[in-house]
Amino acid sequence: MCTTSGQAAVLLSLLNICNAGDSFISTTEIYGGSINLFSFTLKKLGIECIYIDKNDSDQEISKAFKPNTRAVFGETIANPALTVLDIERFARLTHQHHVPLIVDNTFATPILCKPFEYGADIIVHSTSKYMDGHAVQIGGAIVDSGNFDWTCGKFPGLTEPDESYHGISYTDTYGKKAYIVKARMQLMRDFGVYPAAHSAFLLNLGLETLAVRMKQYCENTMMVARYLEQSPYVEKVNYPGLESDENYALAKKYLKGCSGVISFIIKGGKENAMWFMNTLHLASNEVHVADIRTYVLHPASETHRQLNDEQLAAAGIDSGMVRLSVGLESVEDIISDLEQAFSSLTI
Ligand SMILES: *Cc1c(COP(=O)(O)O)cnc(C)c1O
Repeated sequence: MCTTSGQAAVLLSLLNICNAGDSFISTTEIYGGSINLFSFTLKKLGIECIYIDKNDSDQEISKAFKPNTRAVFGETIANPALTVLDIERFARLTHQHHVPLIVDNTFATPILCKPFEYGADIIVHSTSKYMDGHAVQIGGAIVDSGNFDWTCGKFPGLTEPDESYHGISYTDTYGKKAYIVKARMQLMRDFGVYPAAHSAFLLNLGLETLAVRMKQYCENTMMVARYLEQSPYVEKVNYPGLESDENYALAKKYLKGCSGVISFIIKGGKENAMWFMNTLHLASNEVHVADIRTYVLHPASETHRQLNDEQLAAAGIDSGMVRLSVGLESVEDIISDLEQAFSSLTI
């Protein structure tokens, strides 16, 4: 089911199974917009989000489940942490408690990872990123595997008669399609977050070249990551495609490529990071990611500027950190742009 935005897809994926008084579990490494939605807006609606560290043991994570838990949420490749979700492990833990696993697959796209193959039940996407590819529309999607058994007693909204829709039971009437039909007939009707026809048209143009673009993003980004790793101006590179990255083994297992976003720490802290960014010619400074053009961003002074130094440290954001969304320009041009900007720094 397509939606007006990725945010709308994330919202409906949860509201479809969580009511006031329910809770759900999310990993801490998720997109900032989702953190705000989960921590503040859903809380006001009476739905509690319990955060877990995805590196915690099975036992620790199991403690977060309560009788009112209705779902578990995580991102295949986390934006902006760039860590990889152990989907099989999370699906196993989640199913032990008879709730579905919802995976945000925006950064991986279905080209690099198919979370259903590892046990995820529901997938959400922001189509505003790679799927569109050109930053010309905002959109989202919810995909239902049809595999989750909603009749375990925890989801009366799916099994009991819906007064607002001819008194039908979604599971009785629609079987495997119960979840997505309820989202469409009930929540889409009530919230009205339908994509405009023109947005759907633009999205479709992008989707037609997704497979070739993702392959090229992965190739370009791997080369840029290797270049950064050996640069004397760089302290650390985060990219799950690098053997030195903590998420390398998970990336090998789940991903056909590690997508196009890198973060790295420049020696010399914020001052050098800002100077570097301002000296780039080809890459532009944008908050948007996962686009056809190369973008940079300084998280400490842009996306995360509300945080103090302590909070920045807790979020894993160094003052010298730069986020780089590698585009589809010639990789030689991208690297020579980085090189000329580095060479203007004093370290
Ligand atoms: C951008 C993004 C979203 C939100 O998508 P919009 O289309 O901008 O509303 C959700 N999840 C992830 C991982 C994202 O990167």
